[in-house]
Amino acid sequence: MADIIYTYGDKVYMNITNRCPCRCSFCIRSNGEGLGSAETLWHEREPSAEEIIAAIDGFDLSGFQEIAFCGYGEPLCALDNLVKAGNYIKSKYDIQIRINTNGLGDLINNKSCAKIIGGFTDTVSISLNAPNPQRYVELSRPSFGEKSFDAIIEFAKECKKFIRTVRFSLVNVISEQEIEECRKLARDLDIPLRVREYTK
Ligand code: SF4
Repeated sequence: MADIIYTYGDKVYMNITNRCPCRCSFCIRSNGEGLGSAETLWHEREPSAEEIIAAIDGFDLSGFQEIAFCGYGEPLCALDNLVKAGNYIKSKYDIQIRINTNGLGDLINNKSCAKIIGGFTDTVSISLNAPNPQRYVELSRPSFGEKSFDAIIEFAKECKKFIRTVRFSLVNVISEQEIEECRKLARDLDIPLRVREYTK
């Protein structure tokens, strides 16, 4: 069984699903099996809620200020388990919870997710990736097609109502001009944007 909780550097992460509706050209999953303390992040099958809770019970999170849901998959593909795990962690530890997401949770679950995750989430980091729907489809190849981009923007706006810290991120595989367009879009939404280095 792959690691459900792993550390990378001095940070700790939850890897609760391998499902994802995208196939981003820069996805870290194509780089290898594991990351940080995890030999592999590929689950033989999706972990159950009980297995996720057992993994939390088997890991001492005291000493960490934050835990991030960020594995080899999109956390909102496992929304029920995400909610159970997030609430369970909050009930046991005084720790900040971050979700790294592709922002497609509403399309994946066919409902608005911001309020649902807002109950236990301190920070949400949403992958913006591109300045417009067409480029988003080229780079992230979502199964939902071009409507994905508007869904991400809508999700981000909703998150601002329920989650204290909302931010965008992108990987610098797009042009400087496109990064600038993303910056403007983020500014207009009053959401900070982090540009990350592409690492092979
Ligand atoms: S959304 Fe994230 S997990 Fe999914 S393919 Fe893109 S980078 Fe990989």
